[in-house]
Amino acid sequence: MADITLDGIGHAYGGAPRSEADYALKPIHHVWESGKAYALLGPSGCGKTTLLNIISGLVIPSHGRLLFGDRDVTRLPTEQRNIAQVFQFPVIYDTMTVAENLAFPLKNRGMARPQIEKRVGEIAAMLDLVPDLGRRARGLTADAKQKISLGRGLVRSDVSAVLFDEPLTVIDPALKWELRSKLKAVHRALDLLMIYVTHDQVEALTFADKVVVMNDGRAVQIGTPTELFERPEHTFVGYFIGSPGMNLLRGEVSGAEARVDGHVLPLGAAYPNLAGGASVKLGIRPDYATLTQGEGLPVTVTRIDDLGRKLLAHVSLGGAGAQSLVASVPRGMGVDLGPARLRLDPAKTHVYHDERRVE
Ligand code: ATP
Repeated sequence: MADITLDGIGHAYGGAPRSEADYALKPIHHVWESGKAYALLGPSGCGKTTLLNIISGLVIPSHGRLLFGDRDVTRLPTEQRNIAQVFQFPVIYDTMTVAENLAFPLKNRGMARPQIEKRVGEIAAMLDLVPDLGRRARGLTADAKQKISLGRGLVRSDVSAVLFDEPLTVIDPALKWELRSKLKAVHRALDLLMIYVTHDQVEALTFADKVVVMNDGRAVQIGTPTELFERPEHTFVGYFIGSPGMNLLRGEVSGAEARVDGHVLPLGAAYPNLAGGASVKLGIRPDYATLTQGEGLPVTVTRIDDLGRKLLAHVSLGGAGAQSLVASVPRGMGVDLGPARLRLDPAKTHVYHDERRVE
């Protein structure tokens, strides 16, 4: 097991890029540590699959080097990379039993039979496939077939990495939740470097130690789920992560205060690197913008969303043309449309200049 190093890896389909916009994947420098779980998360077309295909060898990058440990694998074919892959749709042998399917990658490597049986038993237990081990794959449900695919991807303990490309797409929604947390537990038990592509933030945040948030061909932030939630380094991360995402308000900063639509908001700190009166965006998550019965900004509640476990209020900061944000309503507090008071937690209010977080 070794780290994977992305040393300036980037890719432009169709030849030499003339500008940044020509890169499907803009050059990225990063080390993925052995034994950790990573998710590549972003909207359609952001470059996740391109990056995954570069790791697997399906795409040779136009820029940079890819290292598995000290070994430069940038131009090596897939079969020389020692990786396992799980795709969106099951890749299994229908005529084989579940046990034979799981054993296949190990047999191929010449592993002795008793060890194969032991390993197949372990993986089957992790994925609840033990009762099906003797059954032919052909007669099983689509969910069970995809679990076999997952098992085949996880069965070898000597791989450099396991790559998952949206592996839960075909799974029934009722089972998805269970399988998501199971995969996390499997990762902990197996200690393999895993890279998981998804556009579903819940999947990414449940599975990964670190999430690579991608937008427009760029890795905009690589962080733990908590870091992405509490300290989004880019406005895109703020509104893409979270449901609903972070509120972003246009305003101006001077010292440790911001002005937004005629209101003065205290900030958690001063921003000496910003010129006084600089135009910024203030980012605050709905969890930290709360309606209050005490002191607070005068606002107008324009809509209330009842999400069952909590209420969210849409509030306007003033008259015509004023900005709006989404706020939490504390449990047990009555709320109606119309005038209300809002408290924004200064310590949780982030300042963004040119879409990047300012310290
Ligand atoms: P999705 O979730 O839709 O699969 P993605 O995040 O995986 O999207 P990519 O498939 O990596 O994104 O695509 C990134 C960009 O590269 C897109 O603009 C896409 O149109 C382009 N692209 C992908 N594959 C090719 C190709 N073979 N030739 C030319 N352009 C491509």
